[in-house]
Amino acid sequence: MEINRDTGIKERLSKFKKSLPDHITLVAVSKNHPTELLLEAYNAGQRIFGENRAQEMSIKQKKLPKDIEWHFIGHLQKNKIRLIAPYVSVIQGVDSFELLEKIDSHAKKSNRVITCLLQIHIAQEASKFGFTFDDCREMLKKEEWRKLSNINFGGVMGMATFTDNMDQVLSEFRALTDFFNKVKKEFFPDQDSFKTISIGMSEDYTVAIKAGSNMIRIGSLVFGQRD
Ligand SMILES: *Cc1c(COP(=O)(O)O)cnc(C)c1O
Repeated sequence: MEINRDTGIKERLSKFKKSLPDHITLVAVSKNHPTELLLEAYNAGQRIFGENRAQEMSIKQKKLPKDIEWHFIGHLQKNKIRLIAPYVSVIQGVDSFELLEKIDSHAKKSNRVITCLLQIHIAQEASKFGFTFDDCREMLKKEEWRKLSNINFGGVMGMATFTDNMDQVLSEFRALTDFFNKVKKEFFPDQDSFKTISIGMSEDYTVAIKAGSNMIRIGSLVFGQRD
């Protein structure tokens, strides 16, 4: 694949990465962007990409180098799991036990372990997906998740309210960090792999980092505006 136009991704990406503290993992959110642009980011050193549609992600995965870590960041429909199970690294945004069971069974068929992040609903908007804090804790208390041997519980993920009020965003992110710390202590005390707090997008990642994020999901700031 040849790149014959200067999109400036390389410069944007390296400048952006340099501005981040070392403990922050950058997921480059490439949804709606053509494969050529992902390859450009890949050639600039980026290895972790986030997509929110199973089909789109699978098409890109087939075309691009195999050492890319694919993160599914959207709402995953149960009938799409089999499409991505053979290669996906992390499914961010798991918000029910039923979904975990289905992912586990497809992961088994592919002989893989898939990392899942528990998506928690922290925003005020009613439309976004995710467990409530209470529902997530209830699910973990039931202990059945411990039988899901092909799932690696990697941490939590959340999206703040879409607002200019950064105090509100900060307090929502902080609530999720607190929840992570409690859940870690209670249910995953010996699992180093339960470590990820995936919060922060282009508009609010600095606030997220302040609140304890260690994984940010950045789209427009790296790739420019989406169509
Ligand atoms: C699109 C998307 C992002 C990235 O959004 P930007 O504002 O472009 O950085 C992050 N997380 C999720 C879940 C998304 O759907």
